[in-house]
Amino acid sequence: MVQAYRMHIGGEWVGGDGYFNDLNPATGQVMARFPAGSAGDVDRAVDAAEGALKSWSETPPPKRGRILQRTADILRKEKERLGTLVATEMGKVMPEALGDVQEAIDVFEYFAGEGRRLFGNTTTSELKGKFAMTVRRPVGVMGLITPWNFPIAIPAWKLSAALVCGNTAVFKPSSDTPLCAYELVRILLRAGVPDGVVNLVTGSAADVGEAIVRHRRVGGISFTGSKATGEWITKNAGLKKVGLELGGKNPVIVMDDADLGLAVEGIIWGAFGTTGQRCTAASRVIAHRAIRKKLVAELVRRAERLRLGPGVAKTTDVGPLINMAAVEKTEGYVDIGRKEGAKLVCGGKRPPGRGFFYRPTIFDDADRGMRIAREEIFGPVLSVLECGGLDDAIDIANSVEYGLSSSIYTRDVNSALRAISGIEAGITYVNASTIGAEVHLPFGGVKATGHTREAGITGIDEFSHLKTVYIDYSGKLQKAQIDAGE
Ligand code: NAD
Repeated sequence: MVQAYRMHIGGEWVGGDGYFNDLNPATGQVMARFPAGSAGDVDRAVDAAEGALKSWSETPPPKRGRILQRTADILRKEKERLGTLVATEMGKVMPEALGDVQEAIDVFEYFAGEGRRLFGNTTTSELKGKFAMTVRRPVGVMGLITPWNFPIAIPAWKLSAALVCGNTAVFKPSSDTPLCAYELVRILLRAGVPDGVVNLVTGSAADVGEAIVRHRRVGGISFTGSKATGEWITKNAGLKKVGLELGGKNPVIVMDDADLGLAVEGIIWGAFGTTGQRCTAASRVIAHRAIRKKLVAELVRRAERLRLGPGVAKTTDVGPLINMAAVEKTEGYVDIGRKEGAKLVCGGKRPPGRGFFYRPTIFDDADRGMRIAREEIFGPVLSVLECGGLDDAIDIANSVEYGLSSSIYTRDVNSALRAISGIEAGITYVNASTIGAEVHLPFGGVKATGHTREAGITGIDEFSHLKTVYIDYSGKLQKAQIDAGE
């Protein structure tokens, strides 16, 4: 019997009029059922979040921080159980699933400390007897909308920053990973988050997601997901404060002086880790013409050895894709790549058997004009392009609409620094793959990836307003620009 779970609205666990199935991607079997929430549920969740806002925003930030610290402590105690859940529900392999939970622990700890900072600035005034400063204020009720690929970590990034800043939240997780979201919310409640502060509404993009984005009393939206949804939100959120973390088409430049062994390790990890389903996945290799053939031969040799299987199995290197639509999308792009004239040198098919699997796939001889080298596939497909030198490589790297992560392998410090300044991306790694963000540094992109920075000290900008405060203690009317003029 498959268990039916509930949403959490205004401190109560509530069912829905209908339910949807939550699938295990390694088997295709139903592992849970969740309420198909409605616009009415969103309305009730916003009421609850609005009702809880005054008391939560007036709770001293260090006290809010203590609740985040307790959340981190519970997550740490339950890391193995939650990691197994991530591997089962989302499909990533156990070391990465445990990493997903660890990232949540890290970010809750990081923002717990923020409770004792939430810095504004003090500055000078142009007038005598006048004091000037900025303080942080919450945005209000925030809509948090998340994808499935980091089913604990991404909700944790948003919830930790939103809560420490004094916001209340209506949280809509992806319908592919509602159980991870449910477990995280339960842990927040156990840690002491008061009723109404975090409301979990499960359900479809059309019924729940769009209702949150359009809701008049939601003050801000923090969204992580695809570019298409980000565009829809931009058009429909009205004047809300909107944060967008969107897709990527992340390049790895490999120069002729690179440590090829190191580059191969990094590319395999970046391209096929999480089955290519990371916003920061390495999906393009831009290889110097002097080493391209050797590099591709080694990449193929390594990719062919990767073992497919369920994320929870110890022997698995590459887990399943999230659902059948993702398998079909990957297949579609492999067909496109073939037709565009790229050379398929590895993979290019599904393995036999059940579950949503696809073999690690490499295209050589790709060209910057091809769709496989420009569009986000979000599957285990890597395109290799050739460059004649560093300027050419940077040009190719910048020829896509996205700008999230990037990497260069070189032993030349000048090449590394030219790449750092030349590549249009929010993140550049030197002699490391495109993945590996740490929570105390800002994370985000440029161009079609969006412009928000989550995590790190700037992570609170998305979840707070800066209020400017002037205190005039001169006892008389003073006019800026007029009394202070030359
Ligand atoms: P998606 O955009 O389809 O869905 C993300 C979430 O938005 C889901 O909860 C979905 O139900 C909801 N949603 C969809 N349409 C909506 C709408 N019109 N209004 C409101 N909510 C809506 O993305 P996905 O397939 O879940 O995730 C994969 C994408 O996420 C990839 O493009 C990937 O690059 C991106 N991503 C980006 C980052 C980042 O930090 N930049 C991190 C992880 C994933």
